[in-house]
Amino acid sequence: MSKENILSEPSVIRHDWLIDEVIHLLTRPLFDVIFSAQGIHRAHFKANQVQLSTLLNIKTGTCSEDCGYCSQSARFKTSIESQPLMALKEVVAAAKEAKAKGATRFCMGAAWRSPKRQDFDKVLEIVKSVKSLGLETCMTLGLLDLEQAEQLKVAGLDYYNHNLDTSAAYYKQITSTHTYQDRLDTLANVRDAHLKVCCGGIFGMGESLEDRAALLQTLANLPIHPDSVPINKLIPIAGTPLAKSEKPDPFDMVRCIAAARILMPTSYIRLSAGRTEMSDELQALCFLAGANSIFYGEKLLTTDNPGVEQDMKLFKRLGIETMSTTD
Ligand code: SF4
Repeated sequence: MSKENILSEPSVIRHDWLIDEVIHLLTRPLFDVIFSAQGIHRAHFKANQVQLSTLLNIKTGTCSEDCGYCSQSARFKTSIESQPLMALKEVVAAAKEAKAKGATRFCMGAAWRSPKRQDFDKVLEIVKSVKSLGLETCMTLGLLDLEQAEQLKVAGLDYYNHNLDTSAAYYKQITSTHTYQDRLDTLANVRDAHLKVCCGGIFGMGESLEDRAALLQTLANLPIHPDSVPINKLIPIAGTPLAKSEKPDPFDMVRCIAAARILMPTSYIRLSAGRTEMSDELQALCFLAGANSIFYGEKLLTTDNPGVEQDMKLFKRLGIETMSTTD
């Protein structure tokens, strides 16, 4: 089989991708890689369907870590207002509202290096209550050990989000307070606890083509492909070290999505942060390249997201239906 055929063969699920193969995907003519990705997408998913997730920050700011893109680090002077862990009833009210607006998954984020004992019991109560509303539950709480991951599973958590952000080589330029291996270890604990994994990266942090390829290769070569792969575009935030990052070529974002679809054919590829800066036409290209999930709702942790009505209008114009469930 030729190299082109291997790279676009829908039935092959691989965990042994070579870096040269991923670079090849990211540098093919744009329409060729989109064409391959859409074919693979249709072999594994219904066409013209997008899954909706809603994201709520349940604890904001004062994080001990120094991730260079993040407004919530205590080390940077940004304009966000810190907020301690939200009360259970406030989270439940937000989850009910998200469900009423069509979300099938409710994702909750807390700005921690890792959850502390006194907060963790409250987090478990939140998971139980949101799950009892009939929503899929997802959390992002930072680094987890195996015991914490298992307790979250028992409480009813479906997904755990923990992004690798970029390549192992470039990660040191982004964060100094924890390592890439720390993140890989958390992903292993989450998998071992039989939670579904949501793991992706951020595009536009000054990384090279090789870094983008290495991130996608690492994701695709995990023992199990992440169930959801968020592809974020950096939102430069005043006060953070990456505030002045150069804007990447938007077509390269489309290439990353198409490559992610080809490398991880059965994963939900989520077009995540950065949609407010994207035209409708660019978002349409991302869906054509295999993105089939979005974050839905006006806020994305601490940054803006397109309004619900705006998303619905775009879906109508594109003939896209929303999925009622991801199972
Ligand atoms: S660990 Fe999370 S919340 Fe803390 S600085 Fe890094 S990205 Fe932000």
